[in-house]
Amino acid sequence: MRRLVHELIPPGACKTLNSAAIYANNEVDLAEVDIYGFDYDYTLALYSNALNTMIYNQARTFLIEHFKYPEEISKYEYVPNFAVRGLHYDIQKGLLMKIDAFHYIQRGTVYRGLSPLSDEEVLDLYGGTFHIPLHEDSGFYGKGPRVKQFMDIFSIPEMTLLAVANDFFITNDIEYDPVHLFKDISVTIGMVHLKGFMYKWVMQDLGEFDLTDAVLHRLVSQGKKLFLITNSPFSFVDKGMTHMAGKKWRDFFDVVIVQADKPHFFTDCVKPFRRLDDNGDLRWEKIKSLDKGQIYKQGNLYDFLRLTGWRGSKVLYFGDHLYSDLADLMLRHGWRTAAIVPELEHETKVVSTNRYALSLTWLQALTGLLEQLQVHKDQESKQVFREWQQERDELRAMIKNLYNPQFGSIFRTGHNPTYFSRRLCRFSDIYMASLSCLLNYDLSYTFYPRRTPLQHEAPLWMDQLSADAQFKQ
Ligand SMILES: [Mg+2]
Repeated sequence: MRRLVHELIPPGACKTLNSAAIYANNEVDLAEVDIYGFDYDYTLALYSNALNTMIYNQARTFLIEHFKYPEEISKYEYVPNFAVRGLHYDIQKGLLMKIDAFHYIQRGTVYRGLSPLSDEEVLDLYGGTFHIPLHEDSGFYGKGPRVKQFMDIFSIPEMTLLAVANDFFITNDIEYDPVHLFKDISVTIGMVHLKGFMYKWVMQDLGEFDLTDAVLHRLVSQGKKLFLITNSPFSFVDKGMTHMAGKKWRDFFDVVIVQADKPHFFTDCVKPFRRLDDNGDLRWEKIKSLDKGQIYKQGNLYDFLRLTGWRGSKVLYFGDHLYSDLADLMLRHGWRTAAIVPELEHETKVVSTNRYALSLTWLQALTGLLEQLQVHKDQESKQVFREWQQERDELRAMIKNLYNPQFGSIFRTGHNPTYFSRRLCRFSDIYMASLSCLLNYDLSYTFYPRRTPLQHEAPLWMDQLSADAQFKQ
């Protein structure tokens, strides 16, 4: 049977995925887009994984020196590739986990400290179910009362430090309150940002700058208008952009807004724009227009729309944070949205391997066989059914490990999309690994989503066989 699976995969099929591609959830015609907007961190500026280690180390130091946590925690080095983005964290129980689009925990992905919990332990802790109710889940912006979703790329070191500190207390049998730990670590990560450490490291760590420069050049040379809305301070953006696009980077943009306080920027209509002068000092004048070459702080989207007139689907906004950058634009304001998902680079590589194609094809075939075999109630069939079911479980675990041994793919839990994935489909028209993917397309290109069949629209060969089998009974 497995040999047959080999023959089912056409030659060269495994090399068709390209991490430089742009993927569409919704049809977008670039010819209709006149105005391109951008977030800054992880959208225009990409940072390497080295930053995660530095954030982790500094936050760990704050935890010990500022919050007086035990010195021994300093022995725990950063664990690369432990956590992935989009995970949920149960604040009271101190558990990190992956949840699917239907709010079910994926088995084998619940971690207390650095160790996984068994299914039985999870059921025990959650009243006999793997389901996390919506009201506990995460709220609209991932900040539920008991469970938080980590959506920021910066949150990878935060999750790792949480896992490590929990691990320290558990393995040393020291009583502690996971709620205090969660809050304290959240503050230490904030301190790394506020005290300017991160900004200093980022200056030494900027990568792919020539590509960002090339994207901006291309858009401007074809008559597009550009704007920037970031939560970062001007001095930081100025240094980074100068590094990436030269001293005259401001010439690319028609409007530049810093410290915008997203996502509130998109929902509040109270904070007015303020202008920063050339020294970076705030001016007191009322803002009546948003002018090229000037830098504005705070403000809100309602004033932005009123002053620029940039409305509807002629605007395409790029951001990496599904909630802070994209959700409100999609739900309230009707701009087109593009998500930057750097994890696509690794994940499309995994999907493009022979091993993955083989395992997934066999998994699908095995699932079809199970579907048919279940109607046979004799002892021998039941025994084979159990064996196949076990093989299916092993196969699913193996496929999960190809992405990340702890948590698997950020897009999939077994057959289902993840919670993250569902939000990605809901809030972004198109998504891509990095902004530079745009260089591979003409600016009049239309992105068409693939028509994937809904469940009732997809008659599979096994469905037909299974229907035939039932008619014969
Ligand atoms: Mg960002």
